Amino acid sequence: MGDIIDGKAFAATLRQNIAAEVSALKSERGISPGLAVVLVGDDPASQVYVRNKGRQARETGIQSFEHRLERDTQEAQILDLIRDLNADPSVNGILVQLPLPRHMDAEKVLQTIDPSKDVDGFHPINVGQLTVGADALVPCTPLGCMMLLRDRLGDMSGLDAVIVGRSNIVGKPMAALLLRENCTVTIAHSRTRDLPAVCRRADILVAAVGRPAMIQGEWIKPGATVIDVGINRIEGENGKTRLVGDVDFASALPVAGAITPVPGGVGPMTIACLLHNTLVATRRQLAMPPP
Ligand code: NDP
Repeated sequence: MGDIIDGKAFAATLRQNIAAEVSALKSERGISPGLAVVLVGDDPASQVYVRNKGRQARETGIQSFEHRLERDTQEAQILDLIRDLNADPSVNGILVQLPLPRHMDAEKVLQTIDPSKDVDGFHPINVGQLTVGADALVPCTPLGCMMLLRDRLGDMSGLDAVIVGRSNIVGKPMAALLLRENCTVTIAHSRTRDLPAVCRRADILVAAVGRPAMIQGEWIKPGATVIDVGINRIEGENGKTRLVGDVDFASALPVAGAITPVPGGVGPMTIACLLHNTLVATRRQLAMPPP
């Protein structure tokens, strides 16, 4: 039976460490890192995410500045707001909650963020820096996955890593990070032939697909470390909905060496890594070494 990787506990410890660093920064330099979150419209899921980000930031001593714009806000207005935040010295990190309304060009909005304040790591400068192995602000979800993997496996050199999913938010940055750890990396996607056979090669299997319980236990190499990024809401018993990952947890657990559950695995790491990135960005802006 595989171990269950407790992302919730790991994230709580990470937040404690961030809180200690933030407190030291305040006492030594008189600086409280600031995170600005921009939300456009009233999408209920986005509102929950933004509220949680703000609450967890404040709990670690990071100042949270929330900017809520109406759904029909003109693109020029959000670009002006981002430019103001870029110029504001009390703001060290800027995050624009996605998705944006259709009338806005998300690429243009994200590219307007100062790369040194881009705590989501989506600006092409940070994407490029990550790809060439230079210092970058790394997207929060893959960064959280890497922290869990490093904690579990230590040196990953030479391991076969398979990532199912090639999005810019998860799959591609995850591949760059695993390559940096000297893994042999395969990225699978919807056109991959014989996906079960590809997955069976993996010492490290990362599922970021968005399809409930797609990856079966028999696709998993015995002893593999399985990171399930998927968050899928499905109809459960009694008409209630529940969250499941992209991996069929019940059949995977007996085969895997270790696996992240959903919920309680990668999910809690994402916001903790956003706070981590805010601290990293603040320290870089002050020309201090990374935390
Ligand atoms: P995207 O929809 O952007 O990408 C999904 C990827 O999965 C695509 O590359 C797609 O391939 C691939 N795919 C789809 N169907 C199949 C299939 N049948 N076989 C193989 N590959 C397939 O999703 P995201 O990367 O944004 O998110 C993935 C999952 O992770 C979602 O459940 C999302 O909710 C969750 N997520 C969780 C986060 C967290 O904090 N834990 C944060 C971000 C996302 P192709 O490119 O060929 O279409």
